[in-house]
Amino acid sequence: IATKTHGIEKSVWVEFIQLALEVKPLNLGQGFPDFAAPDHVRKALSEAASSESNFLLNQYTRSFGHPRLVNAISKVYSKVVGREINPMTEVLVTAGAYEALFVSIMGLVNPGDEVIIIEPFFDCYVPQVKLAGGTPVFVPLRPKKTEGVTNSGDWVLDPAELAAAFNSKTKAIVVNTPNNPLGKVYKKEELMMIADLCKKYNSVAIMDEVYEWMTYTGQEHCRMATLPGMWDRCITIGSAGKTFSVTGWKIGWAYGPAHLLKGAQVVHQHSVYTCSTPIQEAVAQGFEKELELYGTPECYLQSLAVELEEKRDMVVKLLTDAGLNPIVPEGGYFILADVRDIVNKVDIGGDLNERKDFRFVKWLSRNRKLQGIPPSAFYSPQHGDIGENYIRFCFIKASDLVFRCTD
Ligand code: PMP
Ligand code: GLN
Repeated sequence: IATKTHGIEKSVWVEFIQLALEVKPLNLGQGFPDFAAPDHVRKALSEAASSESNFLLNQYTRSFGHPRLVNAISKVYSKVVGREINPMTEVLVTAGAYEALFVSIMGLVNPGDEVIIIEPFFDCYVPQVKLAGGTPVFVPLRPKKTEGVTNSGDWVLDPAELAAAFNSKTKAIVVNTPNNPLGKVYKKEELMMIADLCKKYNSVAIMDEVYEWMTYTGQEHCRMATLPGMWDRCITIGSAGKTFSVTGWKIGWAYGPAHLLKGAQVVHQHSVYTCSTPIQEAVAQGFEKELELYGTPECYLQSLAVELEEKRDMVVKLLTDAGLNPIVPEGGYFILADVRDIVNKVDIGGDLNERKDFRFVKWLSRNRKLQGIPPSAFYSPQHGDIGENYIRFCFIKASDLVFRCTD
């Protein structure tokens, strides 16, 4: 097989989803909701799929995005970004945020280019940069505090370390806010620091904002694309799976200036070409409805975070009571809990060539029937020792299930 696939064979998802199938634990590993999506979104899909009169809704649609969906996306983001986004040239619809990340990276990065990746990162950034022939350069968020219950805001970039990672070969930096797995919501000043470096080194910010609607009290999602001078050097990525709690629909998008999206469009048109029409139609109708509901308690984009915050608080309490000091997330739907105490007390066994968190997650799945994800999967090998002290749990679950898991 092609040498470009060598060294990137492993996937934490493939490994742990296989384990979940085998052991059937309470699965708080892979992130997906265990409840139904909003009625209006589900209804829109069943109508689109079963429509006899509008049979074209089940045939190929426009390559760069179904017209109704790119129009809806442009309306939503023009509002939050504060500028008119051209639906035809400044939006690309993709097969999930995964594909948006992949085509953005493939469309920007030349062999020899460097791409800065902040740790902990969503794991696919690294193989995607490598497949594009680029070199990932890692900069970890470092905790200001590690004892007791801490907050994802305690994890920060060292300005000197970040600045030292940039150079004339830096094509892009990938920033994920709110972050998976930490739940960090970057503050405006933190994004400004990154923006200044992007301007200084002529680099692009690839913003993974799939959890954009999920921030908790006291936090506001700040968009890099709204900062001075950054629209022109930013590609921002979103996901219908996260936005409407339909992770299986696999529709995502990238928006940004036409000159930056161009490469992504070319890669998309020659690989995926076009995404599922009825699902795009349903997501479009979902956004249209949400725009009508915006500012009311029925608006899902706004109400989901309220529900999630209750779940977050409940999980924080349960983990704290269990002695697994959590890092309280400011956004997203994952939480990291500190496993150092347990791992020191219990013989978790396993293959000693593997990191502690991988061994612990396997032990917990097999022996306690509870599954999480080992966070060192979100680190480069040189910084994996930061992540291996933790386990990641997903908390976008019906409340009784979360209670059951922590008994
Ligand atoms: N980025 C992050 C940070 C994610 O957590 C996910 C979840 N899979 C993705 C991208 C990919 O999203 P999608 O399911 O829309 O491909
Ligand atoms: N984003 C989800 C998570 O982090 C799903 C990842 C995946 O299935 N590859 O758990």
